[in-house]
Amino acid sequence: MASVGFESVRKVFGKTMALRDVDLLVADGEFMVLLGPSGCGKTTLLRCLAGLEQIDGGTVRIGDRDVSDLAPRHRNIAMVFQSYAVFPHMKVYDNIAFGLRMRKKSKEEIQKRVREGAELLQLEPFLDRYPGQLSGGQRQRVAVARAIVTDSPVLLMDEPLSNLDALLRLHARAELKRLHGEVKRTTVYVTHDQIEALSMGDRIAVMRDGQIVQVDTPGVIYDRPASVFVGSFIGSPPMNFLKCVARNGTAVGEGFEIPGPPGMDGKKLLMGIRPESIRVGEGPLQARVVVVEPLGSHTLLTARVGSELLKVVDDPDSQVRADQEIRLAPESHKIRWMNAESGMAVQAPS
Ligand code: ATP
Repeated sequence: MASVGFESVRKVFGKTMALRDVDLLVADGEFMVLLGPSGCGKTTLLRCLAGLEQIDGGTVRIGDRDVSDLAPRHRNIAMVFQSYAVFPHMKVYDNIAFGLRMRKKSKEEIQKRVREGAELLQLEPFLDRYPGQLSGGQRQRVAVARAIVTDSPVLLMDEPLSNLDALLRLHARAELKRLHGEVKRTTVYVTHDQIEALSMGDRIAVMRDGQIVQVDTPGVIYDRPASVFVGSFIGSPPMNFLKCVARNGTAVGEGFEIPGPPGMDGKKLLMGIRPESIRVGEGPLQARVVVVEPLGSHTLLTARVGSELLKVVDDPDSQVRADQEIRLAPESHKIRWMNAESGMAVQAPS
């Protein structure tokens, strides 16, 4: 097994700075998710690790080896891509065996590993079929099997589930997580799907404009985003941000006043609060309900506070109606104060 390290990694495409001095350490056996909007540099970072892109500055390490100038085949990593690139003219067995044959393993060894991989991914009934005779989900499992049967200590996955329909995706997500639990390969997994990131990652590295803006466990990323960007990107619906001003230890907004962060008098703030961390009933926020959406497991309210809109998760059997005046109570320990000018959290995330 092996850790993975990026130290001040830079990549430039013409005038585009795709990676701006990225630092990231992925521990041995860790499942690290790279998450961020389209174009933020996730795939480029993965390709730099694989050796498919030459870096323009910095160092890439696998274990204690500097692999920055090594060809892909000498980096000993396995990869699964979005298009899952299974070979259509090869049967499932041969597809899974491909990497092992390239690595010149013995026939017996190949047979044993393909059987193991097929068992792990429940592909045994399909070994004699061609990819064209499989469903999308089964083809995707073939691509994963092909990657994991090699003994590469590092596994890279670039949006491997994005071509699957919603139900299959849900299933495959759990499968991949179970698989990682069993095989514990160091994994770097690219996605722009925040649910996938939250559910699978040991840690998540959130990227924006070629930089990593926060790295932490899913729980911390969700509860204590380092910036408005992270709070807005993660969570569906995203975190609410209400404008206010700090005054003598309180935060004063349009139509509300609540205890605020100390020592920030006169500073413009944003009160960050998740929709499920707001209670309907007694509370300091005066609101008018704009929309009520019953969603089965909960009711989603859109309410106006002053001139701003707020999302609130209420009970599934919520009695609240559109146009009703209600009071709302944000759970104080769930509030995340942001500096309105910089967009950064007032308290450093711990
Ligand atoms: P997506 O989620 O859409 O796949 P991403 O976060 O993986 O996006 P990258 O593919 O890493 O983003 O791209 C980062 C930036 O580098 C983008 O601005 C992209 O247009 C640019 N880029 C990537 N590859 C190349 C290339 N081969 N030539 C020129 N520009 C590139």
